[in-house]
Amino acid sequence: MSKIYADIIIDISHEKLDKTFQYEIPSELAGEVFIGSRVEVSFGKGEGRRITGYVVNITEEPNWDPTKIKPISKVVKDANAIEDQLIALAAWMKGHYGGTMNQALKTVLPIKKKENVLKKKEITLLLDEKQAKDIFTDLIARKNHSVAKERLLSALMEDKELPWEAVTKKLNVPTSVIRDFEKAGYVRVTEKRAFRKPTDKLEGDWVQHTLNPMQQRVVDTFINDYNQGIRKPYLLYGVTGSGKTEVYLEMIDHVLKEKKQVIVLIPEISLTYQTLVRFYRRFGDVVSIMNSRLSPGERFDQFERAKKGDIQIMIGPRSALFTPFPNLGLIVMDEEHDDSYKSEQIPRYHARETAVQRAAMAKAPIVLGSATPSVESFTRAKSGEYTLLTMENRVEKRPLPSCEIVDLRKELMDGNRSILSRSLQQAMEAALKRKEQVMLFINRRGLMGFVSCRACGHVIKCPHCDVSLSMHKNGKLTCHYCGYETVYPKICPDCGSKYIGGFRAGTEKIEEVVQERFPGVRTLRMDADTTKGKNSHQEILNAFSNREADVLIGTQMIVKGHDFPGVTLMGILAADMSLNVSDYRGAERTFQMITQAAGRAGRGEIPGQVIIQTYQPQHYSITTAANQDYDSFYKMESAYRTLMSYPPYCHMLSIQITGEVEGEADAKAKMLTDFIKKQDRGFLIFGPQDAGIAKIKDIYRKVIYVRDTDYNRLIKIKDGIEKLLLESNEYRNAHVSFDFNPMNGF
Ligand code: ADP
Ligand code: ZN
Ligand code: ZN
Repeated sequence: MSKIYADIIIDISHEKLDKTFQYEIPSELAGEVFIGSRVEVSFGKGEGRRITGYVVNITEEPNWDPTKIKPISKVVKDANAIEDQLIALAAWMKGHYGGTMNQALKTVLPIKKKENVLKKKEITLLLDEKQAKDIFTDLIARKNHSVAKERLLSALMEDKELPWEAVTKKLNVPTSVIRDFEKAGYVRVTEKRAFRKPTDKLEGDWVQHTLNPMQQRVVDTFINDYNQGIRKPYLLYGVTGSGKTEVYLEMIDHVLKEKKQVIVLIPEISLTYQTLVRFYRRFGDVVSIMNSRLSPGERFDQFERAKKGDIQIMIGPRSALFTPFPNLGLIVMDEEHDDSYKSEQIPRYHARETAVQRAAMAKAPIVLGSATPSVESFTRAKSGEYTLLTMENRVEKRPLPSCEIVDLRKELMDGNRSILSRSLQQAMEAALKRKEQVMLFINRRGLMGFVSCRACGHVIKCPHCDVSLSMHKNGKLTCHYCGYETVYPKICPDCGSKYIGGFRAGTEKIEEVVQERFPGVRTLRMDADTTKGKNSHQEILNAFSNREADVLIGTQMIVKGHDFPGVTLMGILAADMSLNVSDYRGAERTFQMITQAAGRAGRGEIPGQVIIQTYQPQHYSITTAANQDYDSFYKMESAYRTLMSYPPYCHMLSIQITGEVEGEADAKAKMLTDFIKKQDRGFLIFGPQDAGIAKIKDIYRKVIYVRDTDYNRLIKIKDGIEKLLLESNEYRNAHVSFDFNPMNGF
């Protein structure tokens, strides 16, 4: 029998996770050693030291002289340190989504990077405004005074807190000056940037709500289960404004009292001040947040605090799932349907499935919440795999908004070429007259300022990338993928019509139209361009919330979870844009987007109104969303998915092949397809074919889709291909990657 070897990592806190050591799996341990297992080995010369490590790969290929490879001493069975749990999770992710164990470990473990061991220093002004002014006046009055001191003080008067680096480098202030200020008691220098707690600057009033009977029922179910030791996934399906957050808070409270920790996952974009305030006010200092702006070092620090028990609740986007809480007691995933839970980096994991897995490993319940549950989760809830908790009404019996569907084709036929239909204009006029606020939502997907012909539908594309070009203010068309630029055509290159571009012009254009139509109206715009700054996202929301503007125009960013009581009208400008993308999730996305957008209107005392503009007024995703009728939508959608063998009724593996030479990518794709066909197990195979975007930066992209009702069979296909690629030397310059149940076309 041939020997089997295991690659083992010894030091997981190290940046170089790929540093592995090979050991033999002795035959008596065969069947006990898996990827992710913790094992004991002797390390170093001769008998060496006994240390433990983790198995990251199992192979029949020795990577050096087989006679020198030592055997694994034993498998550590009662391993239950938090690292063990996370490594087991990484192993599950590797198996489930592909990629290497190394990539999975890097996703799951907080990696301490060397350069981040250096702590960041900050300089904080300790003087109040008047003191600072007096000292400043004094200082500059002096002859030959230090200009460095002047610079530093005036900078601190602008901004009470400055990073050490900025002061010493950009302002060119010598360290001695900073030390002088420190001695004089003007400033404080802090070593590590103290975690800034949103509680430091809480404003506004907060009311502790008594749960209404509907909320109480849901919480009671959870608590009863919990007290009986039932640990399973729940789907909390509650319409927009039904008070889901309040329910989460109660559940969390119960779990915290059991001395357990809680992870709250929310889409990055909903990580707003408003949301945080609610958690902080309730639980105080034990709450911490994560977001993508944290550096790896800061993330590491956060995770250390979690491990040490300094914090009990971690709120954040999908990466917060890997918070190393030793005693995890609950995972809450708000807006569980959100696309941002799927990682587009290898491993291309879905945080929902991964969270369910982590919860199961930690023997903790998980609560998935949404007003528009994903078809996947609702199907699981119907089958009893998840417990369904329902909240069908808004709090305080506030009515759901009334929705009107406007047919844009009819508008054009009647001679209205404006982005704003006549209905929407009237409703806006009325709302603005009543001093109420309006939100206009434009679907960014399929609407990045693409230029197309309204007569024939021709779209202008990049010659290197097979994507539509976007219009820019300088009058040029550019490609977001490669930067290609060309002049904006006056007539359609295909049919010669002059109605080209126009409508699909993005938020900037809409703002112009609104200002033209309603002179003096105060508008705010929220899109990728206006939210580049660190806090700009929050600033815009605050400004709108403080009624500094009447109309907020925005992309997806404005529909997520915000609570603006002043908004009574929501205009959805082009509801069907997300239907046109070639993706089986189009209808689901459209339904979710309209329902979520509609959910923003009428959250205060005054009932809300929604106007949905569309070219496909009869489409079920639009009609059901207009009635806020999830059940009917689900019925139609699941019938469609069943008929078409789409997830969740079938699983889908996307095998992606990229290469500079098209022929080579094609040949490799063909080789893989033949391989899959040889497995001969009745897989549904589509392709090989050009990917949705057939070319990016002159790299050709091919794709094969394999579908099967059994996920594990797809994993076997992936494993088989990974093995084949290791063994075969053909078409080396074409690369292969995998995406299970992809969320975005390739
Ligand atoms: P959802 O997340 O379900 O859309 P939220 O949790 O944002 O809803 O709640 C909507 C609004 O209702 C919030 O302003 C919240 O403070 C308020 N609210 C929640 N529960 C109650 C309650 N029991 N009584 C009164 N107001 C409540
Ligand atoms: Zn391009
Ligand atoms: Zn045309």
